[in-house]
Amino acid sequence: MFKKVLIANRGEIAVRIHRTCRDMGISTVAVHSTADADALHVKMANESVCIGPAQSDKSYLHIPAILAAAEVTDAEAIHPGYGFLSENEKFAEIVTASGFTFIGPKAEHIRLMGDKVAALEYAKKVGLPTIPGSDGAVGDEKHAFEIANRIGYPVIIKAAAGGGGRGMKIAHSDAALPNMIAMARAEAKAAFGDATVFIEKFLEKPRHIEIQILADSHGNVIHLGERDCTLQRRHQKVVEESPSPVLSQNQRESLGELSAEACRKMGYVGAGTMEFLYEDGKFYFIEMNTRLQVEHPVTELVTGLDLVEEQIRVAAGEELRLKGKVALRGHAIECRINAECPDTFRPSPGKVDEYFAPGGPGVRVDASLYPGCTVPPYYDAMVGKLIVHGNTRDQALARMRRALEEYVVGGIKTNLPLHRRIMNNDSFINGHYNVHSLERFIQGGLF
Ligand code: ADP
Repeated sequence: MFKKVLIANRGEIAVRIHRTCRDMGISTVAVHSTADADALHVKMANESVCIGPAQSDKSYLHIPAILAAAEVTDAEAIHPGYGFLSENEKFAEIVTASGFTFIGPKAEHIRLMGDKVAALEYAKKVGLPTIPGSDGAVGDEKHAFEIANRIGYPVIIKAAAGGGGRGMKIAHSDAALPNMIAMARAEAKAAFGDATVFIEKFLEKPRHIEIQILADSHGNVIHLGERDCTLQRRHQKVVEESPSPVLSQNQRESLGELSAEACRKMGYVGAGTMEFLYEDGKFYFIEMNTRLQVEHPVTELVTGLDLVEEQIRVAAGEELRLKGKVALRGHAIECRINAECPDTFRPSPGKVDEYFAPGGPGVRVDASLYPGCTVPPYYDAMVGKLIVHGNTRDQALARMRRALEEYVVGGIKTNLPLHRRIMNNDSFINGHYNVHSLERFIQGGLF
């Protein structure tokens, strides 16, 4: 096993990875920008290296600085967390070529799944159902009209290199289509440096269901059930839970096995997530994430596994210890805590002058906050996650309500008030909602 791991990330995920490393007797190296000198992940790590100024492209995305930090500290392996360089195949390649172990999948699989057009093509080849659409990149306007009229409006235009809910536009008619394509292309070019877009039928009331996969380098692939991430704002997840309130055991098993088989055929190694939309009893593959996900703790709480430990063991060449069906126990729910105004959703960085994290039966907090810490304005607004576990969904909901009542974050604004409203909403409590419900709710409507 590795003696020392460098964590190429910041915030709650860097703290979370550090904790598992310590459980495993592994020493940690934190990297940080000048803006994060007093950050929790830096305070907790066994060693830390400043890798550059506040701007991400000069620090957390600066590959030579991260490799230099690994070299000077004698780290053996690098964990990329999520976001930043976690889905950058060049980073994975360079890390390996420089003699370190990349705690993640092979660069070729990051590349394949990072291009959504290629990923959908692969999915179809291995028998996963997909949403009717352009079957590849969109060409000229004539091509776009042909596709849209074949599948029928509304359609969604998506960036091939997309992620984080960016670069997606919806068109309801021929009149709107060219404009929406131009906007999607411009956004994709600016955010990902690639203007390639494709078209899918826009589903009116889907749920987002994803399957957690674990695979080792000996050909063993297992699935750990699903997460329901239907509650979203601007295509970004806000609340996640496992199991889904709407899936039967048969659906879970068949979707899980289908996903595991797709990864087996690929020769995939590491943790990964196959994402699907679910509508009218049918599943449609939309993409695969080749990394640890923000919402992985809900899977940990229902399986009893530590996914970061599994990632590290697999990266070190070990075989998965669990090879068959994994039993799921109880119900877990996660609320993403963002430093933002709960009404306008504008980011709210600044000094946290008061902080009290909830606890008690079934409560877990993965956060980067402490009393007196500063949330810098340069990075993602997500500062933590509140996760609960209960024997039943009702018990998990009650625990989430109790924990949300206890949670105090002072000095900055957070979306805690929004979560309190969601957890008391009848439609959420009954499990009756789709990916568009939260947007309607925020605008004053029903779920
Ligand atoms: P990203 O990689 O940016 O997260 P995804 O393809 O995973 O993008 O989609 C994110 C979310 O966008 C989905 O969970 C869903 O809410 C919405 N979405 C994506 N495709 C469609 C579609 N065809 N119809 C309706 N909603 C969609």
